Amino acid sequence: MKLVVLLGDGMADLPLAQLQGKTPLQAAKKPNMDLLAKQGRSGLAQTVPEGFPPGSDVANLSVMGYSPGQHYSGRAPLEAAAMGVVLVEGDIAFRCNFVTIVNGIMQDYSAGHITTEEGRELIEALQPLMPERRLYAGVSYRNLLVLQAGAKAICTPPHDISDQPVASYQPRGPDSELLIRLMQAAQPILAGHTVNARRIAAGKLPANAIWLWGQGPAPTMPSFAEKYGRKGAMISAVDLLKGIGRYAGLEVIDVAGATGNIDTNYKGKVEAALQALKSCDFVYLHVEAPDEAGHEGNTELKVRAIELFDERVVGPVVEGLKKSGEDWRVLLLPDHATPISIKTHSRDPVPFTIAGSGVSPDGLESFDETAAKRGGHGLVEATKLIGIMMR
Ligand SMILES: [Zn+2]
Repeated sequence: MKLVVLLGDGMADLPLAQLQGKTPLQAAKKPNMDLLAKQGRSGLAQTVPEGFPPGSDVANLSVMGYSPGQHYSGRAPLEAAAMGVVLVEGDIAFRCNFVTIVNGIMQDYSAGHITTEEGRELIEALQPLMPERRLYAGVSYRNLLVLQAGAKAICTPPHDISDQPVASYQPRGPDSELLIRLMQAAQPILAGHTVNARRIAAGKLPANAIWLWGQGPAPTMPSFAEKYGRKGAMISAVDLLKGIGRYAGLEVIDVAGATGNIDTNYKGKVEAALQALKSCDFVYLHVEAPDEAGHEGNTELKVRAIELFDERVVGPVVEGLKKSGEDWRVLLLPDHATPISIKTHSRDPVPFTIAGSGVSPDGLESFDETAAKRGGHGLVEATKLIGIMMR
């Protein structure tokens, strides 16, 4: 049996007046997802356990079957693994965002989705500030800093404080002084950098500050093969997902042109998934774009991102599975909701559908938040989903 998780990051949402009371999932044309819902069994999954932040890290660990209570040590250590950065005893990895702060307000958590090339130049300029120079450039605005301190500082994700005064959300608690000092010291270097001068001249947002958050030491977890008895692969543009894949012992496949945005290389990801399934039995295919649109509060873009996920990923993957002649199952879901109205993640349960060989339908017509409440699986803990898909 070939198992595929199709994960549209942050697809779930709340009803919007702008969409005549529909959610983006309900408003989007998504015939392939709806067909899976018709042919499969749906339900609601609790991906974020009580007491955990509703992030992609916690939610995707849950979906892969790893209880966050046992295995979650922070988001940045997962991203470190994805970037090939090894954490040793005492190392604490931090996410280091490029952000745009204007008049003390968090204007953009992504510095206008700065390009990876521009980011690399800026990271180079910041190295002299950093202890042991362990600052690593990532994809777009998502960088990594490794310190020997700061595990217990309380930091705030920058996408949670869009349009709010940053002074109210500085790091607090043990070792916070070091973090605040590094963030402040970066500002004059970034402000005077030619990369930012060029961005401003082009009407783009400058990366005029860094923001440290999501820190922790390396997690310990059993491999996916140990848990489920099968080899698998992870396909995602995002370091966080690649990191989870590495710690789970999955083959992490890099797809050229996978950007984490609406312009990502969908075709390349689908081809990589179908190719991987020739030599393994499990693929986790993650698409980031709906989440980014949610963070931007852009309804139209979110609907479009969902439609592209449906047309270019869900449809072709299912078609490929049908053609393969093998038994197959697909688990379709978002990791969490990223409601347009709050521009950040929420902890609401998310709709899911499991379809494929031997699955008897539960009579739903659509894949969305409301329909899923009537699904045959009811409300389940997300850590049980892979097990349910395998039965
Ligand atoms: Zn997410």
